[in-house]
Amino acid sequence: MSKLPKAMLIDLDDTILAYDKLSRPIWLSVCQNHAEELPNVTPEQLVEAIDEYRKWYWSDPTRHRRARLNLGNVRGDVVEGGFERLGIKAAELALKMGNEYAKRREQAVAPFPGAIDALVALKDLGMRMAMVTNGSSETQRAKINRWDLEQYFDFILVEGEFGKGKPEPDVYRHAMKTLDSQPSNTWMVGDNLEWEVAAPQRMGITGVWHDWRGRGLPKGASIKPDRIITSLQELLQLPLE
Ligand SMILES: [Mg+2]
Repeated sequence: MSKLPKAMLIDLDDTILAYDKLSRPIWLSVCQNHAEELPNVTPEQLVEAIDEYRKWYWSDPTRHRRARLNLGNVRGDVVEGGFERLGIKAAELALKMGNEYAKRREQAVAPFPGAIDALVALKDLGMRMAMVTNGSSETQRAKINRWDLEQYFDFILVEGEFGKGKPEPDVYRHAMKTLDSQPSNTWMVGDNLEWEVAAPQRMGITGVWHDWRGRGLPKGASIKPDRIITSLQELLQLPLE
């Protein structure tokens, strides 16, 4: 653990690209834009209700998978769910607000400061790298292309293209086969403790947790990452094997 491995598998959302931290401020701004159409609630109350519903919505693995592979009306549904909690019936407005949110969020997604520099430096070191990302081909490739990320990777595995997603072992097996690496000399770097730390660890892969919030492990967490980083640049503080 004191040296860099031969190969690295790296997650996209909330590891290379800042994603989740944008959601609440954008929801608040969307709710503020439509405050006049919703005179009986404050934008803050609405964001709270949307947030609660959103957490419930994404907490179920099956629903999560279905939704991430076809985002379609998910955002509109989430607004409608928030509305329902507040006794508001306005399906059309919910759809409009959901679309507004989706558009603004896609525009706002950007790499974490220093993330691209870290990828460049890892590549310069001769690291074999694969991006392993869940979601549909359309949404993930749009982000990859927009930030021209393909150039840093030997291989990119997108759930919607491969037919399986993290945490399924086949995903990790396939990525390692493509990089010609073994679990013992491969690291998986990602922000999802279950998918990107515990699941790869069960296969003998080193699990590196990207703690982008910098808050440390959640209280009572049973998952023990082999290494915790708050930025990809921290990976470069180790010598090569
Ligand atoms: Mg992620």
